[in-house]
Amino acid sequence: MFPDHLIIDFDSTFITKESLDELACFSLGEHPEKKGRLEKIRSLTEAGMVGEITFDESLSQRMALLDADRRDVEFVTSQLMNAITPSFAKQIDFLQKHNESVWIISGGFREMIIPIVSSFGISPAQVFANDFIYGEDEKILGVDSENPMAQAGGKVIQVNAMGLKGEIHVIGDGLTDYELKGKGPASRFYAFIENVRRDNVCELADSILKSFNDYVRLVRD
Ligand SMILES: [Mg+2]
Repeated sequence: MFPDHLIIDFDSTFITKESLDELACFSLGEHPEKKGRLEKIRSLTEAGMVGEITFDESLSQRMALLDADRRDVEFVTSQLMNAITPSFAKQIDFLQKHNESVWIISGGFREMIIPIVSSFGISPAQVFANDFIYGEDEKILGVDSENPMAQAGGKVIQVNAMGLKGEIHVIGDGLTDYELKGKGPASRFYAFIENVRRDNVCELADSILKSFNDYVRLVRD
């Protein structure tokens, strides 16, 4: 049966890529330090996903390596519309049918996520993620550190604050997604491996999803 609430991660789950990595790659353009900075950003993303460092450390260190402005964000968002994970794209009717019970909880960025999930019937009020802070020249200065999603354990803090009742399922590829069950109110955690498989996350999962189609088969009435 479809649960009362379904929480879905965004980066490497709903889309095939890590949005901040993509933003860095595009915005660094011909920057002389591009290669080194991208490697550093990718390793910080991974260290955050497997839990070697806390999410707030991973995010703030990555932000310092970016060189992006508002136009870069808009362009990369439009590119990511073409990077929706194939099984999610295939199940658009299923998601639209259950849209009022779906939440996107992401360490990514609201303004990049909302345009992508809106075609699935998921409203901005159902998206919890980080917010960029821009300077007067439209360059990204950093992230809003008051937002719980920018903090260590942010997903758990956010979901606890939402006060969701009933059966809660979580689908994601990272340790912070599992923590919604381990430290939060979720009843089941599904490790999502269509884009990336992390053994330490899979070991903690109730079930492993090779794709979103597997989940649809499990909960379809
Ligand atoms: Mg993810």
